[in-house]
Amino acid sequence: MTIPHWIGGKRVTGTSGRTAPVTDPSTGAITGEVALASTRDADTAIAAAAAAFPTWRDTSLARRTQIIFAFRELLNARKGELAEIITAEHGKVLSDALGEITRGQEVVEFACGTPHLIKGEFTENASTRVDVSSIRQPVGPVAIISPFNFPAMVPMWFFPVAIAAGNTVVLKPSEKDPSAALWIAELWAEAGLPDGVFNVLQGDREAVDALLVSPAIKAVSFVGSTPIARYVYERATAHGKRVQALGGAKNHMVVLPDADLDLAADAAVNAGYGSAGERCMAISALVAVGAIADDLVAKIAERTVKLRTGDGMTGVDMGPLITRAHRDKVAGYIDEGEGAGARLVVDGREVAAEGESGGFWLGPTLFDHVTTDMSIYTDEIFGPVLSVLRVNTYEQAVELINASPYGNGTAIYTNDGGAARRFQNEVEVGMVGINVPVPVPMAYYSFGGWKNSLFGDLHAHGMEGIRFFTRGKVITSRWLDPSHGGINLGFPENT
Ligand code: NAD
Repeated sequence: MTIPHWIGGKRVTGTSGRTAPVTDPSTGAITGEVALASTRDADTAIAAAAAAFPTWRDTSLARRTQIIFAFRELLNARKGELAEIITAEHGKVLSDALGEITRGQEVVEFACGTPHLIKGEFTENASTRVDVSSIRQPVGPVAIISPFNFPAMVPMWFFPVAIAAGNTVVLKPSEKDPSAALWIAELWAEAGLPDGVFNVLQGDREAVDALLVSPAIKAVSFVGSTPIARYVYERATAHGKRVQALGGAKNHMVVLPDADLDLAADAAVNAGYGSAGERCMAISALVAVGAIADDLVAKIAERTVKLRTGDGMTGVDMGPLITRAHRDKVAGYIDEGEGAGARLVVDGREVAAEGESGGFWLGPTLFDHVTTDMSIYTDEIFGPVLSVLRVNTYEQAVELINASPYGNGTAIYTNDGGAARRFQNEVEVGMVGINVPVPVPMAYYSFGGWKNSLFGDLHAHGMEGIRFFTRGKVITSRWLDPSHGGINLGFPENT
């Protein structure tokens, strides 16, 4: 079975003849082949989005909102189907797949309020009988390029807002789990979205490059690893587009000596191993402050060894990794951490997974006494590996976080309100949790990191999303004054 593109309201196989295998990470079996777009296929998708744009941008806000509302209703009723598709190709457990859809759905709900959010301003008599108003208009056809780890939620950070604001979309999902995007496209069609407003272009670098250089694409929203985010930002801005490129992460959780260690241990396990650590908001570095480290590590270890790893369809805690290559890469980091002298408290390489032997299994892994020069600390591992670093003071913890090239998310566990207030003020990270390990996206706030975790000026969704997908126009008008003051080559003054 070839998993096709969705262009102009229908499934299209494309012209490249190139495909990539899609696997079920719980069995290792190839379950399909995804079409990989040629530049020609990309141009067809871009042309469909460009052709649909004039009519969609002039469709009334009332009509657009009705379609988005209908999409929300269909999604809410049928999200179980989508969750199964995600688990089958990504491997994350079913409840987690449902969780990501629900977060994405919240952005759809937010987008239903777009008529209010894109209202302009009006000033009467800015000058004598001269009125000034501002409006926000869609930017045009836009590209969304998304990673494998949230095949539904990440695209939904962007397309509901883009579409509600009157843009048309070409979504390029990850080639590792491409079916969710196709399912979403068919749901849009059922909701009444006109053909060409939402297109799915399956593919790899060739498809991405075609989107980055096409003059018809006016904006690019990218989410993925830092090197590709930087590349996308530089290439697309050089081609005159506005770009928001969200990159990788290394998220720290600080535990102060006064914290409730049971709560902190629960949080570290949830945020470290949820979705097998394949979350941009996963906690991968735990910074234990002061004398609590031994107790805290013991509590985390006690919980970690009880986690069940296995087929995500069967009610286990943690699923497999996305591919065999990625599984082996993460296992390689565990080898390196051991070799560098970190203390391996729980070894995920020896997991007894509840699933078929061909699955890409790696159990939750806990390291203690990790130092900042080790690769398990410096690199984004993107797997179920939690590293504990020990420091003596709060100041050392903040210094360590602020020295990281990443700045996506962070958390602090404490009962001291003053310390928490200081942390939120001093830490150089875009999203901060206080006694919350994964400050997950809230549709009506923005989502995005600092430093190498985001290239561009505006974060995803919330008011920043509305601004990203619209551009301002200011209109100055005079109707009632027949005299324009005659010839005067000077710069007009307000009178
Ligand atoms: P990735 O960078 O490999 O791929 C992301 C997208 O870019 C995919 O659609 C892929 O097809 C495309 N791509 C890959 N290589 C390319 C190349 N050379 N040229 C052009 N396009 C290319 O990322 P991934 O492995 O799919 O996802 C995991 C990464 O995404 C992690 O680093 C994670 O932290 C990050 N992520 C970040 C956020 C965030 O909000 N900051 C959210 C989710 C994931």
